Amino acid sequence: MRIGIDLGGTKIEGVVLSPDGTQLMRRRIDTPAGNYDATIAAVGSLVDSIERDIGKHGTIGVGIPGAVSLVTDRVKNANSTCLIGHPIEQDLSAAVGRPVRVMNDANCFVLSEASDGAASQATFPDARVIFGIILGTGVGGGIVMKGEALSGRNAIAGEWGHNPLPWPRPEESPGPPCYCGKSGCIETFLCGPSLFADYCKQGGDAKSTREMVERAASGDDDLAEAALQRYEDRLSRALAMVINVLDPDVIVLGGGISNIERLYQTLPKRLPEYVFSDSFDTMIVPPKHGDSSGVRGAAWLWSQAEADQMQSVWSNGGLQAPTTAFIKP
Ligand SMILES: [Zn+2]
Repeated sequence: MRIGIDLGGTKIEGVVLSPDGTQLMRRRIDTPAGNYDATIAAVGSLVDSIERDIGKHGTIGVGIPGAVSLVTDRVKNANSTCLIGHPIEQDLSAAVGRPVRVMNDANCFVLSEASDGAASQATFPDARVIFGIILGTGVGGGIVMKGEALSGRNAIAGEWGHNPLPWPRPEESPGPPCYCGKSGCIETFLCGPSLFADYCKQGGDAKSTREMVERAASGDDDLAEAALQRYEDRLSRALAMVINVLDPDVIVLGGGISNIERLYQTLPKRLPEYVFSDSFDTMIVPPKHGDSSGVRGAAWLWSQAEADQMQSVWSNGGLQAPTTAFIKP
């Protein structure tokens, strides 16, 4: 079996996938706030409790809100800042007694959707390149190429959120300051809170993004409609830049914003204005697994064949988790 762990800023979630991708168990605990050592220990005890209840060991993949530096093997670019600078793969491997694969959570999201979700081979048999984006409290992205998550030379493949918003209007320049140190990053315009803040700034008085979207749909809130149109235009510009570089077959949206259904109609209409091509037929789809995609994708960091191999090692040595017997192929 394969275990996926999503290490979030407030929750740590674990999921167990059967060989055919069916979810056998899902369990969630609080993340010890701001405490790295306690976070590692919490992942260890979550894995332990899952394996006790299932009665088997599994491979472990972990999605984190950041990336592991290929130079230092330590976490970088994480908005859960207590992870930054730590050798998380080593520490987690020590905590669970086996090799652990760690990847950016946006990469896990797109890996899940490309493996058995909205952009799977069953739905899009000819798709080779999938771009998945998270539009949530932050803006992230990941690329799956021929079934594999692409990490990249600097472990930042797909990270489009800290590029500048393309073709900025006068009122969008230089843009809001970003935590990365620059201004006008795509994330500052396209993260979920920014959509609602933009609407409120214009005088909108809906109480939530959901209410704002409902009001726009019923046609009785011009400010809501205008805010959504501004957002759609910005998202189209930002996506066009990725399409001009990567030209993916399918784009999967994730995060809270992906629940706004009109995007799947409005984006394909707006994008041709910005994409450098005489034709445009890239599919833009909602996620199949919703909030579960990140944790499912973490489990997909190992193949079922690798999980079988690991299981046979354990079967030969009882339920004692080996720390060195299993060698990563
Ligand atoms: Zn930034």
